[in-house]
Amino acid sequence: MEATLLCRNGENDISSLSLPLCSNEDLSGSKQRKIYVSIRNSVNINQTENSDFQSTAKKMNKQYSSSDTSMSSEGEEPTRNIKNKFRTLKKNPNDIHTNLVEDVSKESCYDSTTPAKSTTNISASEEDECVTEDDEECGIAMPAYKLKITYKFIQTETKLLRKIFDVHGLREVEGDNNFNLLWTGVHMKLDILRNLAPYQRVNHFPRSYELTRKDRLYKNIERMQHLRGMKHFDIVPQSFILPLESRDLIIAHNKHRGPWIVKPAASSRGRGIFIVNSPDQIPQDEQVLVSKYIVDPLCIDGHKCDLRVYVLVTSFDPLIIYLYKEGIVRLATVRYDRNADNLWNPCMHLCNYSINKYHSDYIRSSDAQDEDVGHKWTLSALLRHLKIQGCDTHQLMLNIEDLIIKAILACAQTIISACRMFVPNGNNCFELYGFDILIDNSLKPWLLEVNLSPSMGVDSPLDTKVKACLIADLLTCVGIPAYSPEVRSHYDSKWSRFRSSSCQRSINVTSVSYKIKKNKKKGSVSTDHLTGEEQRILRNARLQYSRRGGFERIFPTADLMQRYGNFLDSTNGIPISTPNVQGQTFQTLIMQHNYNQMLHSNLYCQDTSYTIDDSLEKNRIKQYERALENGSEIPFAKKPAVEKSEEEGRRQRKLMLKKIGTGSELTQFQARQTFSLYLESVLKRITQDPRDNHEKIILKFLNKFGGSVKPPVLFRNTQSIKVISKARSAMVAKLLGDFLENYKRDTEAYVDSFDHFGMIPSSAYHQFLTHAQESDLEAVLTLHTNVTGIMPFLYNRCGLSVPPTPPIPSGLHGFLRALPSMVSSSGVAREVSKYDGYFKNNDKDYENVQDASIRPKSSRRF
Ligand code: ADP
Repeated sequence: MEATLLCRNGENDISSLSLPLCSNEDLSGSKQRKIYVSIRNSVNINQTENSDFQSTAKKMNKQYSSSDTSMSSEGEEPTRNIKNKFRTLKKNPNDIHTNLVEDVSKESCYDSTTPAKSTTNISASEEDECVTEDDEECGIAMPAYKLKITYKFIQTETKLLRKIFDVHGLREVEGDNNFNLLWTGVHMKLDILRNLAPYQRVNHFPRSYELTRKDRLYKNIERMQHLRGMKHFDIVPQSFILPLESRDLIIAHNKHRGPWIVKPAASSRGRGIFIVNSPDQIPQDEQVLVSKYIVDPLCIDGHKCDLRVYVLVTSFDPLIIYLYKEGIVRLATVRYDRNADNLWNPCMHLCNYSINKYHSDYIRSSDAQDEDVGHKWTLSALLRHLKIQGCDTHQLMLNIEDLIIKAILACAQTIISACRMFVPNGNNCFELYGFDILIDNSLKPWLLEVNLSPSMGVDSPLDTKVKACLIADLLTCVGIPAYSPEVRSHYDSKWSRFRSSSCQRSINVTSVSYKIKKNKKKGSVSTDHLTGEEQRILRNARLQYSRRGGFERIFPTADLMQRYGNFLDSTNGIPISTPNVQGQTFQTLIMQHNYNQMLHSNLYCQDTSYTIDDSLEKNRIKQYERALENGSEIPFAKKPAVEKSEEEGRRQRKLMLKKIGTGSELTQFQARQTFSLYLESVLKRITQDPRDNHEKIILKFLNKFGGSVKPPVLFRNTQSIKVISKARSAMVAKLLGDFLENYKRDTEAYVDSFDHFGMIPSSAYHQFLTHAQESDLEAVLTLHTNVTGIMPFLYNRCGLSVPPTPPIPSGLHGFLRALPSMVSSSGVAREVSKYDGYFKNNDKDYENVQDASIRPKSSRRF
C-alpha cells in the first residue's frame, strides 16, 4: 500500500531539496563554513542538473573531510564564483536563494535552496541513475543527509513532520544535544535554550505562554485596552478569570445578559468547555476563563464556523511576523440555532474538529482539491465564497492581520526580555502559532485563543496538503544552517566557554561596530552606518523574505509606523504593555538600539521619495484568496497493512482462550493493549451507529473511572431537554476518545520486553491482536477476568482500592455491560457527577449485573 504526501510545485519532488553548491575554491580565504539548508520541497532535476548536483555533493564531502575551518559570514550576496556555478541550475531566479557573506562574527555561511521548477521531468531511467526509491524515501540523496543535518523531537506529534524531515534527508537524533533543529510540542526548557549554539534552531520562544495560555493572553490584551484604549484592542470577547473575578462577571452579566462560554484556563481541543446562560450555573471550584458568547457568528450554509490561521514569528526584537496564506475553516456539524435551549449542544456551538469528527453527520472531503466540501474548508475557499456573496474580504483579511499583530504586541514585552535573558543567539528561536479566530456576522474577527504547537495531525487529503506545504515553507523560510562537523565542534567548544560566563547574547548592539567590506551594487544604499548586529538582522530579514514561500510578512510592512508606531517605545522600539515603563530600569528597556525602527527604515524608507505603495498591500491580501498550488503526490512506501483475516482471528482466539483456560495470564501491558483495542472498536460503533444503551454504559464508566477526562458537564442542562441522539453520541464518543488517548499514553509505561513464566508469550499475543475483532477481544477479556479474578486493564496488581471483580456475563457486549461495575465509585469523578442530572437518571441501570455465567474461580492479587 502506498501513502501519499502532497507537496508543492513540481512533480518528482523528493529528488532534491537544497543543493549546497560550494567548493573549497568558492570559499577560499574563509575560515569556517556553514551551509544554510533551506527546506524547499518541489523540484525536478534534469540530467544536467543532477550531475551537477552530484559533483557538487562530492566536492562538499571532500570539503568536509578536510580540516578547513575557515569562516565567512551569513546572509549577504553570493560571490561571483558561486553565482556562476549556480547559473547552470537556475531556471527560475525567484526560487533560488544563494548567499555567502561575511559577518561581524566572521562566521562563514552559505545559504542555498534549490530551484523550484524545471521544465524537464526526470524520466524513469534517468531517475534510476540518480537515486533509488529507497534513497528517496529516506532522503539519503539529499544534501541535508550528506551535511548530517539532524533533528530532535520532544513530546510532539511527529508523523507528518517526520515524513517531511526524513524525505528531505534530515536525520533524527535522540538524547543528543547536537541537533540542528529541535521541535518540541511543549514549552522550551530554559536550560536547553541557554545552551544553544548558533547553528541550532528551536521551535519556541521562551515565555510564549504569555500568548498561548488563554488566561495570560486575555490579561495581556486587557492591559493594552486600559493603556492604549479599548477601540484599538477590542479584539477578544469580554472575559473574566474565575473565581477571582466572579463579582466583575456578575456586574457585567447584569449589564448585558449572557450567554457565557466557560473554558478551563489551560486546556485545548474543546475539552471541558460549556456554555451557560447565567454566571450562577458556573461551578466555583475550578479556575476557568469565562467569555462573552458571540451569539451571531458567521455561518456557512447555516453552520457556525471558525478559523485556524498559522502565524510564524521569526524574531521578537525586531518583531517579524508572517501569516501563512492558507488556513483552515472548521464548521460545526449541526446547523446553528440561537435558541438558548440548544446551548448544551457542542456540535452546534463549538467548531473543534476533535469534537465534531465524532458526529455521524460529519463529512470529510476526500480530495485535496475539494476545498469547500464538508465540514473543513480552506481559508482561501471561504474568502472566495464570501467574495461571491459580496463581502469585503480585503477588509476582513486586513482586520485579521491587525488582530494578530495587536495580540503579539500585547505579549511581546515579556517574551523579549526572556529572549534577552535566555537565548544566546539572535536566530535560535522561531515559532509557529495557531490563531483561532471567530468571525461574527458583521465580519468582525474575534481572537479566541492562540495555540502553542498547532496540531500537525492530518486526517484528510486537504489537511495533508495544507500542513505539508506549511511545514515545508516554514522550514524554508526559517532556514536550517548546516555546519561541518569541524565548525560544529569549534562552536560547541567556543559556546561552552561562552555559556559558562554568561547566557546572554554574544553580539549585542553598540558594543560591536564591525564595518563590513561589501561589494556595493550600483544604486544600493549603504548600510555602513549600521552596527554589525543591525547588518545581520537586516540581511536575515531580507533573506528570509526571499524564502517566504506561502508566508506573507505582515510585520514590518511599509505602513507599520503609521499603524503601530504609537504602541512602540520611541527609544528602543519595543512594544510597550506596562504603564510605568518610563521609570523602569528593566534590561530590555535600556537597550540603546531600536531594531524595529532600523529594520523598517532600511526595508522601506531609504529612498526619500518613498511613498507607501497601496499595491503592495493589495497584492499581499490577494494571496489569501488563492488556493495553494496543486501539489504533486509524493509516494511514500508505507509498511504494508496486515489484512485482518476472520478465519485466522477465530483460530487465534481459540488458542488464546485455551491458554487462559489452562492457567496462562495476560501481562498488564497485554491486558491494557487488549482493552484499548476493544474500546476503540466500541468508539467506532458509537460514532457510526449510535446505540443508546452503549453510550450510557460508557458515560457511567467514564464518570467513575475517567480520571482527568471530565464527565460531560455539557449534560448538566439536559434534564428537561430531549437530547438529540446523534449529538449525544458525538459527545460520549469525544469523551471516550479523550480517555483512550490518555489510556494509551499510560499503557506505554507497561511495555515489557521479556516473557515471564505463567504469562502469555508476547509474540503469540501479538499474533492474536493482529487479527482480533471486537468479539475476539471481548471474549478474551471476559474469560481472563472471570478466570483470574483480576482486572489488569484497569488496576495495577498491587493497587490498594481495587474493587472486587464482578462476574462478567458471556455473550455479545456482556463485558461492556459489566464495565461500570468493575470500577470503584470513589474519587474525583463522583464529585462532578453531582452536577449531572443526566447521570442521576441513569445511575441505577447497571448497578447489578446479574446474569453471570462464570463466577471467578479465585481472587488472586499480587
Ligand atoms: P479550545 O482551545 O478548547 O479549542 P477555543 O477557545 O478555541 O477552545 O474554543 C472552542 C470553540 O468554542 C471554538 O471553536 C468556537 O467555535 C467556540 N467559541 C469559543 N469562544 C467563543 C465565544 N466567545 N463565542 C462564541 N463561540 C466561541
